[in-house]
Amino acid sequence: MAELVFFSGTMDCGKSTLALQLDHNHRARGRRGLVFTKLDRAGAAVLSSRLGLSHEAIEVEDSLDFWEVVVEQATGGRVIDYLICDEAQFYTPVQVEQLARLVDEMNIDVFTFGITADFRAQLFPGSRRLIELADRTQVPQVEALCWCGKRATHNARVVDGDMVVEGEQVVVGDTAQGSPAVVEYEVLCRRHYMRRMTSHAARSQSASAQVLPFDLDLCPLPGSQPRQVGMMDT
Ligand SMILES: [Zn+2]
Repeated sequence: MAELVFFSGTMDCGKSTLALQLDHNHRARGRRGLVFTKLDRAGAAVLSSRLGLSHEAIEVEDSLDFWEVVVEQATGGRVIDYLICDEAQFYTPVQVEQLARLVDEMNIDVFTFGITADFRAQLFPGSRRLIELADRTQVPQVEALCWCGKRATHNARVVDGDMVVEGEQVVVGDTAQGSPAVVEYEVLCRRHYMRRMTSHAARSQSASAQVLPFDLDLCPLPGSQPRQVGMMDT
């Protein structure tokens, strides 16, 4: 029985590496699959992992219809057994529904990989629909780590060195469009996410406090402080 599986987690937890490994394992057993990705760091139509592996992939535009792609392949005599779908957080909810239909009506295994929540700690629309529809949601066994050594559960966006919690949901790459700001991402544990304590902020605090601010008293919640606003908000 085919399944819709969602491997979800933070950035840096090895999702793309796992996606490539799963593709390899199924291919090695003679199964035929298609590999999809969207907005991969390596550019269009490539699924890449931080470990240096990569594989050609079909770029998922908003207009792409998974059902039609697979039916077209079948019409051309190519049977598809499984799909590998990376960066699935960026897929539209309708595309996730197409994936579920392929599982149910064409008995195709669909393995999706994605970041659960954005830098504001809110679910991506694609991830939300996957959590709602998937047969299984799995967390990859490799854990991403916060600078403090705890398991990282949140993705922080850092603009010109400062963590921001507002702005557009999707800003990929190092430079925001139309802005010279440098946009980076860092994974954090929830404690340090809530306290906006990135590794950079921790280092600057430790310079004055003499110790790394593992002690939460040294990392006050930013409640009454003015919010740091991203440069993309204007
Ligand atoms: Zn931490």
